[in-house]
Amino acid sequence: MNYARFLTAVSAARKPSAIRLLTELQQRSPPSLISLAGGAPNPNTFPFQSARVEVKGGDAVVLDETLMKRALQYSGSYGIPELVSWMKDLQKSLHNPPTAGYSPERGQMEMCVTTGSQEGLCKIFEMLVNPGDNVLLDAPTYSGTLAALQPLGCNIMNVPSDQHGMIPEDLRKVLAQWDPTDAQKPDCTVPRVLYTIPNGGNPTGASMTYERKQEVYELARIYDMLIIEDDPYYFLQFQKPWAPTFLSMDVDGRVLRTDSFSKILSSGLRIGFVTGPKPLVDRVVLHIQASTMHTSTFTQLIVSQLLQNWGQTGFLTHIDGVIEFYRSQRNAMLSSADRWLRDVAEWHPPMAGMFLWIKIKGIKDTQRLIMERALEKEVLLVPGGVFNINSSDPCPYVRAAFSLSTPQQIDEAFRRLADLIKDAV
Ligand code: PMP
Ligand code: PLP
Repeated sequence: MNYARFLTAVSAARKPSAIRLLTELQQRSPPSLISLAGGAPNPNTFPFQSARVEVKGGDAVVLDETLMKRALQYSGSYGIPELVSWMKDLQKSLHNPPTAGYSPERGQMEMCVTTGSQEGLCKIFEMLVNPGDNVLLDAPTYSGTLAALQPLGCNIMNVPSDQHGMIPEDLRKVLAQWDPTDAQKPDCTVPRVLYTIPNGGNPTGASMTYERKQEVYELARIYDMLIIEDDPYYFLQFQKPWAPTFLSMDVDGRVLRTDSFSKILSSGLRIGFVTGPKPLVDRVVLHIQASTMHTSTFTQLIVSQLLQNWGQTGFLTHIDGVIEFYRSQRNAMLSSADRWLRDVAEWHPPMAGMFLWIKIKGIKDTQRLIMERALEKEVLLVPGGVFNINSSDPCPYVRAAFSLSTPQQIDEAFRRLADLIKDAV
């Protein structure tokens, strides 16, 4: 892989901050080291002394005075070492990325902690996307992705998809307008980046099959593209075994994967991870050095302590409980949809995530229906248009989340939605 051809001029120009390098060094040194380097403030002057976080059904996470001083201090930009290494072990057990993709000559696998996967995605796009670049994704897609990509002035190209995600045959057709041998030429217009949400897509709920991922990966090899695998609903797959990921099949080192703890540990703590080829993850970290410096050390320590207490087994047991919750919520939403919306709408049961994507019959665009009339009926959903590449294109869909409301509330909401639709058509 020639990673240099994927970098924007801004990303290529990033240089390590000397002081950040010293922080990384210090983080890995014994306590006997006397450091007069760096500009770390003295935590004895900070008002916070210690912390204890009770954990449902488990041992409390305790930050005694010593740990608390660390929690309140600057830390390295990749993330605190014990959290990064715990996550590397987890990635290895879950995805077992083929070692060939991470041999030294192709770039080793690297990971860094991000302040939510949104930060990782945004920095990945800023690393890779120039104005005018063709970028491939399967719309409708997560509005946060569009918010990060669109201002970069790229040309976002849609690859048709269905309830099983991006359709490889359609990707092949989109790509057929280019000659793959042009990909290595300077100023070529062959897309260099393909983005997708492989499980429980936001907003569509779609999950990609292993076979489709294999075909998409092969096309990425032919056209020398990077794949951005944005997978925050990976741990919310209702069926076992979980589908193999792009990361698990990455023999070349062309996959950048973003993971998120937002749906399983906390969305407000803001913890995510970027996993991928070292030369690219290193560039993301240089950007972190120049922006947030690192994800909150306090947050990382709390999460890391919890994970060390749990071990992988405890973590996966927790995940099982989360899945059970969302599965029963999904089932409740599907039965309410059957009860109230059967004649006025269509949908596919999602196999992961927390969204039902509903196509409303006889309505060309749900924007006005939701923004002007839904509040009167006291029911709120997201009009599908906001997930389109061009948000003003008419869209007959709405997105319903089954994450937060009770089955009774979901049922009442769909009764109101059915009323609303019948009034409107
Ligand atoms: N500006 C100056 C002049 C600084 O010295 C520092 C910290 N050393 C910062 C900004 C960054 O501060 P923060 O830790 O709040 O990101
Ligand atoms: N990617 C997708 C597809 C999402 O749906 C979300 C959150 O809604 C994110 C990324 C952002 O996640 P995080 O909270 O980890 O930044």
